[in-house]
Amino acid sequence: MRYDDSPPPPESASSVSPDRPWFARRPALAVGLAALAPTCLAGWVLTQVLAGPGSGAPQPAGARPAASPAAAADAKPSASPSRPPAAPAAAPAKGPLAGRTVVIDPGHNTGNFQHGREIDRQVDIGTNRKECDTTGTTTNSGYMEAEFSLDVAHRARTLLEAKGAKVVLTHDGERPWGPCIDERARIGNEAAADAVVSVHADGASAGNRGFHVILPARVKGGAADTAKILGPSRDLGERLASNFARTTGSSPANYLGGGTGLVVRDDLGGLNLSTRPKVFIECGNMRDDKDAAQLTSPEWRQKAAQGIADGITGFLGG
Ligand code: ZN
Repeated sequence: MRYDDSPPPPESASSVSPDRPWFARRPALAVGLAALAPTCLAGWVLTQVLAGPGSGAPQPAGARPAASPAAAADAKPSASPSRPPAAPAAAPAKGPLAGRTVVIDPGHNTGNFQHGREIDRQVDIGTNRKECDTTGTTTNSGYMEAEFSLDVAHRARTLLEAKGAKVVLTHDGERPWGPCIDERARIGNEAAADAVVSVHADGASAGNRGFHVILPARVKGGAADTAKILGPSRDLGERLASNFARTTGSSPANYLGGGTGLVVRDDLGGLNLSTRPKVFIECGNMRDDKDAAQLTSPEWRQKAAQGIADGITGFLGG
């Protein structure tokens, strides 16, 4: 809506990209120097070493891990493989979310389509039995929900890590299918996550527009008992909804939730089995062309990730 472009304009793109080559090259330069050292004259090495810090860029670590995550946000979805292994070590957890763990659950998996038998297997969700996972939806032009959810998860991870959070993804496109919904819940539980957000986009009919956040219902049965997460999950969900509306300019869904952008469901294994504060967010309707135009836009997905990260940050008091 009207907040669309007013606050900080697309800050990450041009301002940070110049840092990327520097960060990317630095470990290689260091290794190169180390390898050269034994074979070179000590004086020559000394000269190089002295010249390095003086001529090099200003101190990287002092200003929090801001540079590398923002650069990663710009990169293609496969941001993780391209990260230099040294980067995390160079960026010790500092910032308002230091010491906090966030689990982001990218809904579905692009490989689920090819693994019908595996994902149709029934798993125990405490209150019921349900399919391991589903394929998710696509836009009319074939952009998959699973691609969308993983891309937004990468972007949100980058933003949250920049605030010092430890971020765990339930999968990172590395597996052929799944994980199953019970495993997705278990990953959040075993990580003792302070907040868990499952990222999705809906597949409703055209004309249905907007986002909604799904909160756990009170359920008890088998391994499912949501009593303790109801309150904090609602808090998380409300913060997510308001921040998502602000950063994306999107409206709450016009087809459910009564215009609140909040829906309570008791049939989702990922919520029923969670022992940690957890919500789902359906970022828009892939089957509506206007929503799809947003969902397929990398710029819009960055805004979506920002809203999710801001909502989580507010919930965690960061
Ligand atoms: Zn979904």
